[in-house]
Amino acid sequence: TAPALEVKDVEVVYERRDRDPVRAVAGVSLTVGRGQIVGLVGESGCGKSTLAKAIVGLEKPRAGTIVFEGRELSPLTRRARPIEDTRLQMVFQNPFSSLNPRRRIGAQLAEALQMAWSGSRAGGDGSLRERVAALLELVGLPASASERYAHQFSGGQRQRIAIARALAADPTVIVLDEPLSSLDASAQAQIANLLVRLSRELDLALVLISHDLAIVQHIVDEVAVMYLGKLVEQVPSGELWQQPAHPYTEALIGAIPRADGERTLPVALAGEVPDPSAPPPGCRFHPRCPYAFDKCRVEEPAQLPIGRGREVACWLHEGAVEPRRPSELAAA
Ligand code: SF4
Ligand code: MG
Repeated sequence: TAPALEVKDVEVVYERRDRDPVRAVAGVSLTVGRGQIVGLVGESGCGKSTLAKAIVGLEKPRAGTIVFEGRELSPLTRRARPIEDTRLQMVFQNPFSSLNPRRRIGAQLAEALQMAWSGSRAGGDGSLRERVAALLELVGLPASASERYAHQFSGGQRQRIAIARALAADPTVIVLDEPLSSLDASAQAQIANLLVRLSRELDLALVLISHDLAIVQHIVDEVAVMYLGKLVEQVPSGELWQQPAHPYTEALIGAIPRADGERTLPVALAGEVPDPSAPPPGCRFHPRCPYAFDKCRVEEPAQLPIGRGREVACWLHEGAVEPRRPSELAAA
């Protein structure tokens, strides 16, 4: 069967008056398997949210395709897309601003259910009220939550409500933009557990966007790392620590403090993320890369396969047959 989601060579460009356009997403390919949790990570401004919007049809790509369950989605924005695409949902960064403050939660969930039913799919069993209660139960909230308003809930509870609303459409993929970053540590852990449980129980694929690899590393099956509009690496989380292939991934890992207070690698990143409207030539990471060599300053590396379905965009791995750490390759 086809993967849940395939992003192929997607490019999103923002035109700006009197200034150069910004290629916020500069040709990204990404695969998400059915039921899989993929963490899309990178520093803020690297194009993660823009890519997310392109996936769900809120941003129109200039080039490339989005393939959902083997079917190419229309290049139109969401407004013009057919209703069955509601099986591809998004949860936004701030659940408070995406919920209507003046309407009860139950009414908002009922509306989401009715919108999904007006599509080609059957309505499911039970009355609307029962279906709302079932949605709330699915995300760990009591049925009585439907009588209340968004401001009466904590940040974590509001995130649960936003997830419930996405689930109303019976999705197979949900893209979540920074779902944990506005929460305190205990709410973070609870929402993380909820997402893992929902993914397993509903065979739901999740794309979890985060600027913080430390937060998502424990709950994702794969990590996709973005840098300045490019996907630099996609790696199973089990191989992330032993075998990061891209120097940027290696640096991100090195910056995560361990329980014993040690860092696994010195933090090698020099400087800030450059202006996305004027990315460095060649490999976009080269001004900050400790391993950069001549070719890196001139030619841009493509996403190259490095065995077992892994990919990396880095010249160190040219012709490689298996993943190796950049430090090993540079020493060889
Ligand atoms: Fe570093 Fe060169 Fe690899 Fe870019 S291509 S990450 S500059 S080694
Ligand atoms: Mg963002």
